[in-house]
Amino acid sequence: MLNIDLHCHSTVSDGVLTPTQLIERAHQRGVCVIALTDHDDVAGAAEASRAAAEKNIIFINGVEISVTWRGRTIHILGLNVDPDYKPLYDGLTAIRDGRTQRARNISAELEKVGIKDSLEGAFAFVGERGLIGRTHFARFLIEKGYAKDMKTVFKKYLVKGKPGYAHHEWAQLSETIDWITGSGGRAVIAHPARYNLGKNVLNDLLDDFCTLGGTGIEVVSASHTQEQVKIFAHHAKVRNLLVSCGSDFHGPGESFYDLGQLPDLPSGCTPVWHDWKLPVLS
Ligand code: AMP
Ligand code: MN
Ligand code: MN
Ligand code: MN
Repeated sequence: MLNIDLHCHSTVSDGVLTPTQLIERAHQRGVCVIALTDHDDVAGAAEASRAAAEKNIIFINGVEISVTWRGRTIHILGLNVDPDYKPLYDGLTAIRDGRTQRARNISAELEKVGIKDSLEGAFAFVGERGLIGRTHFARFLIEKGYAKDMKTVFKKYLVKGKPGYAHHEWAQLSETIDWITGSGGRAVIAHPARYNLGKNVLNDLLDDFCTLGGTGIEVVSASHTQEQVKIFAHHAKVRNLLVSCGSDFHGPGESFYDLGQLPDLPSGCTPVWHDWKLPVLS
């Protein structure tokens, strides 16, 4: 089976490795096709694709876009996008601007429970691009001893009903799919099990996603149990969706799966890369 990983993060968003370091690690782990999918940014593409070419790894331009659908946050992967496509580029810029305002709101919420200077503290973990997210706040909270690891932070803080939560409106599903498909890419629902949607709401999401031009679903993910892999492979089959796989790697010790350490796709799935001209496939 092809060692392919279509979901991971670098210091451009909330990963801890630079694009070059990420590709080096992927190379060490035998990955032959990789997509860098930073949150709401494609700025790592040039560096990562250069590094990948040196290591004979096939590089796929990607992004993980934050979306608000019916008041919930959903992540949509754009795979094989054109990073220079203006509507995509402008759309991502607007989302990143929103992140900065949300960070102030998160910091104000943490202040209410006596946690001071979290904005500065979180920004100390932010990369050169200035993209700030909850992961950076999480690293600050761990550093200060409020939680022992990532998993614990996201149980005690930063989520709905807990200190440090700030509601935020991300991009719309329709515009997100348009940016991706307009740039020549494929829109894929990231880690669908993570949203804890009931059956009916999940079906509504899949209906909307397919109607709006989405064509893929991430079935193999670090966020999914074996049972969930089967469930989403079934949804893919029923709806003729292409299937993707990704580690969602953020950094050593922070992620459940390392790069390129994924279980195989269930049989009968059509991979999202089935019609890509990949030299390793020919
Ligand atoms: P944001 O897009 O700023 O809201 O941050 C979302 C990010 O937080 C995800 O991409 C993960 O990196 C991280 N995250 C969210 N929930 C968890 C969790 N339960 N465990 C570990 N990391 C999480
Ligand atoms: Mn993340
Ligand atoms: Mn995600
Ligand atoms: Mn991700």
